[in-house]
Amino acid sequence: MAKIGFIGLGKMGLPMARNLMKAGHQVTGFDVVPEAVAAFVTAGGTAAPSAAAAATGAEFVVSMLPAGQHVRAAMLGPAGAAAASPPGAVLIDSSTIDVATARALALEAGRPVVDAPVSGGTMGAENGTLTFMVGGDAATFEKVKPILAGMGRTIVHCGAAGAGQVAKACNNMMLAINMIGVSEAMNMADQLGLPRQKLYDIVSTATGRSFALTDYPPVPDLVATCPANNDYKPGFAAALMAKDLGLAQEAAASAGVATPMGKAAAGFFKQFVDQGEGGKDFSAIIQFMRAMAR
Ligand code: NAD
Repeated sequence: MAKIGFIGLGKMGLPMARNLMKAGHQVTGFDVVPEAVAAFVTAGGTAAPSAAAAATGAEFVVSMLPAGQHVRAAMLGPAGAAAASPPGAVLIDSSTIDVATARALALEAGRPVVDAPVSGGTMGAENGTLTFMVGGDAATFEKVKPILAGMGRTIVHCGAAGAGQVAKACNNMMLAINMIGVSEAMNMADQLGLPRQKLYDIVSTATGRSFALTDYPPVPDLVATCPANNDYKPGFAAALMAKDLGLAQEAAASAGVATPMGKAAAGFFKQFVDQGEGGKDFSAIIQFMRAMAR
């Protein structure tokens, strides 16, 4: 059992903290929104009045925050968790943030740090089945593995600081490109009279298959559990995908890598969000692609 400080008790953070408590850890949590803290206390957690207070006496500090600037503020700010944590404490940032901030945190925290972004969404957070992509040195990875095992099923050491965020950016860029590809094909099939079910059955066993088609198709009546069957209620919101594609573009630009498909995907998702559709599931991008033809 470990003493854990948890910062950011939102849609992902709250169920993750709950699973840490179920695994027998003692969790002290902080969020800037009082309602989020109240839900955490109802779940059996101990409330802290600041990030620093949550980190005081903790062996591990986990953060699950919206973006790089929030991680910087909560970890490195004046009432930040890093300086308040005991010298031996390990910081685990599971937020999806830019590679540059993840690397800066590792350099500036004065404590061992891993970036450990997740895939699996809110369902994975609830069920404790998240995949963790971890960046940091090997010894720190071994220390955090049992803690991450309380919240996830697959835990992969990707390499040095920032490598977890690189893996996350690559994955989501590929997912977005695949979803746009499936959307284009479904729209084409519709307009040219090929039944969607036929296209699904053929491509699910052919070379064009992908998760976006087989598990998460952007049209209803093919896979019962996917958001297209539920009016595109997320799931994984288009606004979050747009954010992740922006991070992927930043990372690609920082390394001088050409990602023209990723750039196009980032542009489509940004326009979709600007139209007020950011709250829909990301598979609703098929509506944006369909509207292009008109
Ligand atoms: P969320 O907005 O529901 O939760 C974030 C929480 O952080 C909020 O409760 C907010 O009040 C709190 N917060 C913000 N600044 C803070 C600060 N300085 N100190 C303390 N608390 C602060 O977001 P979420 O959906 O839980 O996502 C969290 C992270 O996980 C994001 O980086 C997101 O990209 C990533 N992620 C989300 C999903 C998903 O499906 N929701 C999936 C994978 C990864």
